Amino acid sequence: MAYNGEINLNKIYSLKMRAAKELDGREKHVSGAERLVPESAVIPAAESLVNRALHHSNGTPDIINLKIELQDRSDILHLDALPVRTIKTHTSQEGQEKMCELLKEIGVPHAEEIVGMLLKIRGMRGAMLLDSCTLERLEKDPLRGVRVTYMDAAESAVRNSNPEKNHFSEALILATKVVHAPNIQAEICISDDTDYCTGYVASKELGYVRITKLKEQGSRVGGRIFIYDGDQADKEKTIDYLEKQSVLVHGVSLTPDKFPEEAHLPSRIEEIRDDLNKLKEKHLHRSMLSIEGTQGTHVKINENDVLMFSSNNYLDLANDARLKAATVEALEKYGVGAGGSRLISGNMQPHRDLESLVAKFKGTEAAITFATGYMANVGCIQALCGEGDVIFSDELNHASIIDGCRLSRAHIVVYKHCDMEDLENKIRKFSNARGMVVSDAVFSMDGDIAPLPELLEISKRYGLITLIDEAHATGVIGATGHGICEHFNLTVKPDILMGTFSKAVGSQGGFCCAGSDIIDYIKNRARSFIFSTAPSPAIAAASSEGISIIMSEPWRVKSLQKNMKLLCKIFAKHGVAANSDSAILPVILGEESKAMEMSLKLLQDGILVSAIRYPTVKRGSARLRIALMAAHTEDEIKRVVKSINKYI
Ligand code: PMP
Repeated sequence: MAYNGEINLNKIYSLKMRAAKELDGREKHVSGAERLVPESAVIPAAESLVNRALHHSNGTPDIINLKIELQDRSDILHLDALPVRTIKTHTSQEGQEKMCELLKEIGVPHAEEIVGMLLKIRGMRGAMLLDSCTLERLEKDPLRGVRVTYMDAAESAVRNSNPEKNHFSEALILATKVVHAPNIQAEICISDDTDYCTGYVASKELGYVRITKLKEQGSRVGGRIFIYDGDQADKEKTIDYLEKQSVLVHGVSLTPDKFPEEAHLPSRIEEIRDDLNKLKEKHLHRSMLSIEGTQGTHVKINENDVLMFSSNNYLDLANDARLKAATVEALEKYGVGAGGSRLISGNMQPHRDLESLVAKFKGTEAAITFATGYMANVGCIQALCGEGDVIFSDELNHASIIDGCRLSRAHIVVYKHCDMEDLENKIRKFSNARGMVVSDAVFSMDGDIAPLPELLEISKRYGLITLIDEAHATGVIGATGHGICEHFNLTVKPDILMGTFSKAVGSQGGFCCAGSDIIDYIKNRARSFIFSTAPSPAIAAASSEGISIIMSEPWRVKSLQKNMKLLCKIFAKHGVAANSDSAILPVILGEESKAMEMSLKLLQDGILVSAIRYPTVKRGSARLRIALMAAHTEDEIKRVVKSINKYI
């Protein structure tokens, strides 16, 4: 290769900058960058790196580390930058499909799974090194990943360009180095910038292929995977090259050649219309059905009486006269609004009463309530876990748990649904990690129950705290509706029992029950508690009434449990295997269109059973979700089974 002499005639130095700040007693990464420059450029490069550290959008650092090392020149590898091309995509799905196609084109097996793994990466600074055949991760430290260092552009114009604007050049340099590593078949990457949805596929055959849209605006997904194709015994060679080999890349451009049409990207509004049309084509578009009157086993839709099998009002308390009276009484006494967050505007009596009552109901020292169950999960998980922690989460956990995990910035490890062997294997990979195991008690779309005794035993053995979401367990399972601990007759409890007043309790709001220190900590850290107005005191009073009724009228829970046994028995009589110990029974149909069609036919028969589709459940596992109530009669249960059987 004939190169201009600039870089070869000098001693070459590596400069590495890392800036961090202290946050909540922990060191938080602010910025990092590196250069490989001739001796004459060491001082300006050092200045530019320090400047970059001092003026980064992540904040002002407390510590800036600058390491300068002389390189052995004979060891430096000179490479030509990969050729660059751009594929314009309008939707993230189209982008992801393109990425799969490109990987298949160069013979990468399991392309879909690998792209799926990329779409789950968040907050990982290094890259995944992934065996393309077995899909095993080969890095020593999965939290840290593999860090590629000692590389730069050979041309000074690129090195001296504005670092805020040359993310593209930096990525091209990195990709060029990576695809020349021994046994590396390709690299895939998505930017971790929430405002930048672009990514790329790089390989020696493909070059550097930019894909303009791979994720949704605002998404925190971001990271890179190095696809390894070779004998695992040789992986050290690859890691050594990535981490230690000095590489200078020649011919790096400052901006990608614009795709001819890129300047005319459709306006955001047009994209939104396109996306809506695509949702409709795929039977994934959602709209609300208007009902008149109150919630109960029967509701009014367009003046017609419809039998309700689609409500979480399991104990028929949503329209109970005593809940309404408690609401009206509290409304008269305490007014409508809470005026603000309880930390600012004061802690009203109905909220205090509700917290004592729910703590007593769940048998814990203390409780904290939130405006919704969603906010309880999001707030509690974000409060208790942070960067550097690991959260082990069941793959079918509710969206509010998933969102809480994301908000916490902890590393998320998803284990197979209710699979305690998989959970323990995954925990072992992170032994010594601080963190949490989180699971639904009753899974909201499947109705099955988490194996809590084993889950607690494993979590305690590895020193992990546990959070169990009892949204669909409270007032439903256990002989008297106290939830999952009563169901398994456990004396040892999870560290946090979360739940909601919006389902069996018949009211609205969320709660977390735990030891008083944990509750005090959540009050001080949970953003959804601190920065949101408390629910109306009238609603808090209604929730207290609902809990009191569950305690004083255990026959409601018994009747609900009897109804589920009956439903399963009637299905069995019709030759359909059905089993559930909760109030939820899924009828899996597969295709989204089939579930929608069935739900519509049932509605024409005067029965409301919702179709549940992606993204609430996995693609291709669309279903009808039958939600039972204590007040359903035997005839009503027979009617729903008969109707479903007619169309199945
Ligand atoms: N967790 C689970 C398992 C749920 O199903 C739900 C509600 N669908 C929530 C939490 C959120 O509760 P809420 O409706 O009170 O916000």
